Amino acid sequence: MANINKIVKVNSLTEAYELNQKRSNVVLGGFMWLKMGNRSFQNAIDLSKLGLDQIEETGDAFSIGCMCTLRDLELHAGLNQAFKGGIREAVHHIIGVQFRNGATVGGSIYGRYGFSDVLTCFMALNTTVELYKAGIMPLTEFAELKYDNDILLRIHIKKDQRRLSYQSQRLSKTDFPLITVAVSKKDDCFYIAVGARPAKARLLVKPGCTLNKNSLEEDIIDFSNWAADQFNYGSNMRGSEDYRRHLAAVYIKRGIKELL
Ligand SMILES: Cc1cc2nc3c(=O)[nH]c(=O)nc-3n(C[C@H](O)[C@H](O)[C@H](O)COP(=O)(O)OP(=O)(O)OC[C@H]3O[C@@H](n4cnc5c(N)ncnc54)[C@H](O)[C@@H]3O)c2cc1C
Repeated sequence: MANINKIVKVNSLTEAYELNQKRSNVVLGGFMWLKMGNRSFQNAIDLSKLGLDQIEETGDAFSIGCMCTLRDLELHAGLNQAFKGGIREAVHHIIGVQFRNGATVGGSIYGRYGFSDVLTCFMALNTTVELYKAGIMPLTEFAELKYDNDILLRIHIKKDQRRLSYQSQRLSKTDFPLITVAVSKKDDCFYIAVGARPAKARLLVKPGCTLNKNSLEEDIIDFSNWAADQFNYGSNMRGSEDYRRHLAAVYIKRGIKELL
């Protein structure tokens, strides 16, 4: 169990950032993941007074504060409508309602966990992250960065008419996923994110795709197998490399069929 000497409810982002430059301090999300470790922290930086717990919707984008919970994502009518329940599908298998009422978007994205449903799902959308120091960058770029002492403020998702299909597989309910697959489509371009390989999610972008609702099943299968082969897989206690590759191809196919 992690130890925290003092919780500091900061009054500004400057204060939060300055405190976070010390290795003995840590930013708090929902403390769901952090508490599983056994590190000791001098100050835990609590961002809850900074108004970062809102999902804002404008005509062309969503802006999601880092202190929003996974449950907020699951229940947000605008997100569910825009992405046809894809985001809800990505989070609602994560442990249970009480857990999702605590775990935050900031902790989930900042953590860049290999098993992350949240990272996989947002990667297939037009998502950028907003950091206090580094500013705004694509989520795909952020996912590859080394961990540093910046603070994730918000994520932004453009409403660019992408449709989303999300699927994951677990050995048992509430376990970590064995594979996570998000497929989105805009015009003739497919965006395919595969995570829990068990490495963290990566994105494949395939423009100029000729598949449509009249395509032959075998063409969709060929494309799905090709797409699944563009990712690396590994083995761990939840599944082998081959099994993951197989599952990825199956879920990519199902995602594509849903979108077509
Ligand atoms: C038992 C268990 C099972 C889980 N299963 C799944 C699963 O199946 N699928 C899935 O997608 N996820 C799963 N998760 C992960 C979970 O959904 C959250 O992503 C995780 O708990 C982190 O969120 P948190 O709010 O608890 O962050 P915390 O534990 O508070 O923080 C996690 C890390 O992020 C940093 N951090 C937090 N907020 C910020 C910020 N705004 N800026 C910079 N750094 C920040 C913290 O300093 C810390 O290093 C699981 C977690 C646990 C504990």
